[in-house]
Amino acid sequence: MSTVAFIEEDQDWRAGALCSQVDPDLFFAVGAREHRQAKQICKRCPVQLQCLIYALEGPIDHGIWGGMTERERKRFRRQAGEEGWRVKLNIA
Ligand code: SF4
Repeated sequence: MSTVAFIEEDQDWRAGALCSQVDPDLFFAVGAREHRQAKQICKRCPVQLQCLIYALEGPIDHGIWGGMTERERKRFRRQAGEEGWRVKLNIA
């Protein structure tokens, strides 16, 4: 089973989410200050990669997931080009 398939099927990674210990609204706020605060939490999160893969795979359109805003995830996908975001994350 590929890494992506495993993460899609196994949602147990959510149990390790650091954001479950804070106000979830922080991850869906629109302000730059809130974005910075949320990203600081993501940096320390043990399931950041799994979370980012989940959001990219969705794709999930809003909120901070895996340490990236929606705009940053879109840019990441675009910059990955034809090679694809999975290759860029070294999970292909
Ligand atoms: S990476 Fe950020 S948004 Fe994702 S589970 Fe961890 S703290 Fe939550």
